[in-house]
Amino acid sequence: MLPAPGTGTGPGQAPGTSTEPAPGAVAGPGPGGLALAGYVGRSKDRVLATLVDWVRIPSVSAEPSHAGDLAASAELCRRLLEEAGLSDAQVWPTGTAEEPGGPAVFGQWLGAGPDAPTVLVYCHHDVQPADPRSEPWSTPPFEPKVVGGRLFGRGSSDDKGQALMQVEAARGLLAERGRLPVNLKFLVEGEEEVGSPHLGALLQQRRDQLAADVVVVSDTTMLAPDLPSTSVSMRGLVAFDIVLRTARADLHSGIWGGTVPNAALVAARLAARLHDSAHRVTLPGFYDRVVELSEAEAASLAAVPFDEERYKQQAGVAYLEGEAGRSPQERTGTRPTAEVVGIHAGYGGPGMKTVVPAEANLKLALRLVPDQRPDEVEASLRSWLADEVPPGVELSVARYGGVKPLVTPLGHPAVKALAQVIERVWGKAPVFTREGGSGPEEALSRVLGAPVIALGVSLPVDNFHAPDERFELEQLWRGILAAGELLIELGALGRPGLGPAR
Ligand SMILES: [Zn+2]
Repeated sequence: MLPAPGTGTGPGQAPGTSTEPAPGAVAGPGPGGLALAGYVGRSKDRVLATLVDWVRIPSVSAEPSHAGDLAASAELCRRLLEEAGLSDAQVWPTGTAEEPGGPAVFGQWLGAGPDAPTVLVYCHHDVQPADPRSEPWSTPPFEPKVVGGRLFGRGSSDDKGQALMQVEAARGLLAERGRLPVNLKFLVEGEEEVGSPHLGALLQQRRDQLAADVVVVSDTTMLAPDLPSTSVSMRGLVAFDIVLRTARADLHSGIWGGTVPNAALVAARLAARLHDSAHRVTLPGFYDRVVELSEAEAASLAAVPFDEERYKQQAGVAYLEGEAGRSPQERTGTRPTAEVVGIHAGYGGPGMKTVVPAEANLKLALRLVPDQRPDEVEASLRSWLADEVPPGVELSVARYGGVKPLVTPLGHPAVKALAQVIERVWGKAPVFTREGGSGPEEALSRVLGAPVIALGVSLPVDNFHAPDERFELEQLWRGILAAGELLIELGALGRPGLGPAR
């Protein structure tokens, strides 16, 4: 199953929240005193060459013609885990023989013993297509090139660069110390960019092998090198494809127009009634389960700098609109939304065709926040449609996906350990952000019964999913240092220190 078009489940970015960093501009104390400082200093050429090799493989999960590239990318990743010193490095096929999915990669090191925590690192090795080609790339997407301290190429930051950062942290600690402070597992997925269609089944099937006390995800962004941040929540997502039919076929607008129902108008009225005048979603009970932020959460969100003019400029819009009484950060991070992602009816070809359209298609994507449930939202949408769609209009509704929202409490020991590490490496305590997007984190947390924390070092200017995707190399080096420090901190907490699984 593919996600509904336009409902991309990749990590969100945080436009408007940061200033463009100068390459290499960092506020941190420098690498002195960090466990992997010497290792990173010696390894830069090799790590960069490895990343270039990996980015060169066009492992585009959305295009079946790239199945061989996905397999090659998975094999390269498997080899990297093996070379890092992990055992049982293997490629896990997903899907079925008839309908294969993108292969995942697994590897582990279990030498820390039963009293040490087990950390599962999650990343992905598949990439977005190089499109849109309407906006050209400065360098070909699969011919990676370093320009001005940044590696350009599809997948450089989302997510091969960040996956390699985690692999190198493990490799460095094993090389320098012969052991790790925790038991470590890697799950590098091969179909995140198409909505992780087989991840749920894979997690269920491999649950014992993947069992962990904490999940560390490296697939998100940081606001800026001098404004380090970590995301503590992801929104949920459920999408709907609605087809409305008012007649057997399109009708002549001169002969029938003005007397028969027009499918385009029926769809337009539905779209218009989805929000009230305060831009609140009108589905019955939609807000019933929405949890208001705690004081600490609200304060941490308010600490994220926001420049509305810059935000509008980045989006290319003249004004903002949305739920009344809520800031743009609240609207994209802590409040649910219902977006019309597509509306199609009638004639769209060149010139004019005088018809009354018989069929219209409305696609909706709803982003959910704790504690909303996709199933309840679906029931609410169906009852709303039953009330709103005129009798006699044929209605069909297909649901796509259903990701629950996820939040990790700010007081969780793993979040505190991560915050300490970020402060140590970047020289400033992080702010806690909330991703507007939706990803596999919820499934990881639910199936494995473990909290999820996010060590993401890509920057909002890295162009995830867009032309000229890039990765700031200084962030890569700092990311390896931070990933190593994080394993050390989590090891020092011990299993009991991490608290109950959820
Ligand atoms: Zn990603």
